[in-house]
Amino acid sequence: MKELLENFFTSCYDFSESEYELKSKYALVNGMLGITILFVFVLTIFLVFYQKYLFALATSTYLLLQIGAIFFLRKSKTNYRIVIPLIPTISILLILIALNMYPLEHVRLLWFFVAIIASFFLGGRRLGFFVTFLSVFSIVFANYYFNMNFNSYTLVLANVIILLGAAILNLYENREEVSKKRLSDMNISLELRVKDEIKKRILMYEESNNKLKKSALELEKQKNSYRELAFYDTLTGLPNRALFYDRLRHSIHKAKRHHTKVAVLFLDLDNFKEINDSLGHYLGDKVLKAVASRLKNKIRKSDSLARIGGDEFTLLLEDFRDVSVVGDIAKNLIDVILEPIYIDNHQLYVSVSIGIGIYPDDGTDASALLKYADAAMYSAKKEGFGLFHFYKKEMTEKSLERLTLETSIRQGLENNEFVVYYQPVMSSSKNKLIGLEALVRWQHPQRGLLAPVHFMEVAESSALIVQLGEYVLRSAAKQFALWYSQELHPDFLAVNLSVKQLHHHTLMPLLSEILESTSFCTSWLELEITEGYTMQKPKEAIKFLKQIRRLGIRLSIDDFGTGFSSLSYLKKLPVNKLKIDRSFIKDIPRHKGDMALVSAIVSMSKSMHLEVVAEGVETQEQRDFLDSIGCDKIQGYYFSKPISANDIEMKYLKK
Ligand code: C2E
Ligand code: MG
Ligand code: MG
Repeated sequence: MKELLENFFTSCYDFSESEYELKSKYALVNGMLGITILFVFVLTIFLVFYQKYLFALATSTYLLLQIGAIFFLRKSKTNYRIVIPLIPTISILLILIALNMYPLEHVRLLWFFVAIIASFFLGGRRLGFFVTFLSVFSIVFANYYFNMNFNSYTLVLANVIILLGAAILNLYENREEVSKKRLSDMNISLELRVKDEIKKRILMYEESNNKLKKSALELEKQKNSYRELAFYDTLTGLPNRALFYDRLRHSIHKAKRHHTKVAVLFLDLDNFKEINDSLGHYLGDKVLKAVASRLKNKIRKSDSLARIGGDEFTLLLEDFRDVSVVGDIAKNLIDVILEPIYIDNHQLYVSVSIGIGIYPDDGTDASALLKYADAAMYSAKKEGFGLFHFYKKEMTEKSLERLTLETSIRQGLENNEFVVYYQPVMSSSKNKLIGLEALVRWQHPQRGLLAPVHFMEVAESSALIVQLGEYVLRSAAKQFALWYSQELHPDFLAVNLSVKQLHHHTLMPLLSEILESTSFCTSWLELEITEGYTMQKPKEAIKFLKQIRRLGIRLSIDDFGTGFSSLSYLKKLPVNKLKIDRSFIKDIPRHKGDMALVSAIVSMSKSMHLEVVAEGVETQEQRDFLDSIGCDKIQGYYFSKPISANDIEMKYLKK
């Protein structure tokens, strides 16, 4: 019912659920306005009827005001705050005045209480008391001036009830306060919950923030590890070539500004390849690590050490007083590396060669300095192990020479400028040719006929020796087969093989192919190998040489005595012949030690059932001595220098 009434009086406004109280007040005001309008209207008619025109004018003005108020209220809800203290107050007063005139006392009282309660409800405590005061005043006023029939008991009762009403209203307001407090409590708990929630969210946020930070850290770590990979050597942890270059460039810039010097040391281990080959990469890596840490411990923190290749290290030195200090440092580094390295029960000896380039004396840019230091290292290595060289201009000139020589060897091979010469191997007792050694010569278009000493080293250090060796083998075999077809050939043809050829995978197929294509008898061919090859990887060498021997090809050890092969090892090698190196022959008969050595080699060969040839025999005395110790096979200028195939034919075969 209440709701229905409320809705009836407030149907033209929208109230949200939380505005329920406002809606009730609104309904009451509207209702009261409606009743007042009706009442004032009746009163106006009544006054006109009794010809009280002045009163009638006042009431009708009031009527208009009330109607205006209704319109004003309907325009907006906010107008309620303006209307509320005015309209109900005036309305209630008017109703009271009118009701005071009403004959039935209890009806008057009822209206009186309703008005008071309504004013408390609508306007709050202050307005309520104000209305109460005015009401009482109006009753008293009406009683005295209009002589109305109010008895004093009624008035006392009215006052008591008013006070009770006020007390009840107070209670109501207290209740309101309680509910307000409850609301504020709720607010607080809500606030707490919100705070809790916020805390939770903050925690969650922090957690995800931490996770984010963690992954950012990991990302940073990854970035660092990529950086490490890009700029550091993974084995030793030292800077790599790229970082070294960068540091070198930086140092050069600094040195330029301060007019100081920078030294680049290029370090290369002398025998690392052998260690790697004989002991394997695992130990090889350990050696590199040990070398790196020794070097690191020997230098200052400000010096920059890097590993730029397999067994190549570089060191950057700044702030040195004079260049001799750099030499001292290089010497110290060589000494520290020379100390034995103990790895997995192995006692290893490593030595290092060092080349030094100085800014600005030798070069002014990073790559040139490094190149010069490299050239100096190369020159140190050539002189022996464990040495250091400062860069000199001639060094690069030499390496340039090497480079041009390499190119012209390549061109020479393309242009068939290489020819094979043959040197006779003679039987001393029979004074007869028994074999030929094929020795390569280069018919250089400008420089004339060149012996191997002018090009062999460069050819051997590059891969060109494989091509050159193949060429010599093919043409010598062809020549020998031709002589054979003319029934001119001697017993054997000796061909030199370089270490690189022996390691090359094409050698075996090449030998088989040559033997087949030239109708060449395998027992005629003798391959000369060096002690160096057999010493590098003895087990594999023996295995490979046995394969060659299985083809029927004979093997000899060239320059015997210059290497370090032991007798027990020699026994295992599948070779047929030893060729005593020229260095042992050339001082015979002056050098008694050599003579003793040569006779020892000859008798040892015999006891091992090996053939023996003496190389470089130049004099009659040498021949006589060799005859006396039973070395019959002789090769040397005494009989003939290496000569062309034609000359061999003329001098030896067609005699
Ligand atoms: P090698 O195999 O020991 O050849 C003997 C060398 O000693 C030849 O030098 C020869 O001319 C020289 N010789 C011989 N008898 C005498 C002598 O009585 N006195 C002097 N002073 N020297 C004598 P060549 O032809 O200059 O060859 C030098 C080296 O070059 C050879 O030494 C060999 O190791 C290498 N070589 C030559 N041709 C070839 C080849 O086709 N392939 C390979 N891999 N190496 C070759
Ligand atoms: Mg030889
Ligand atoms: Mg020789």
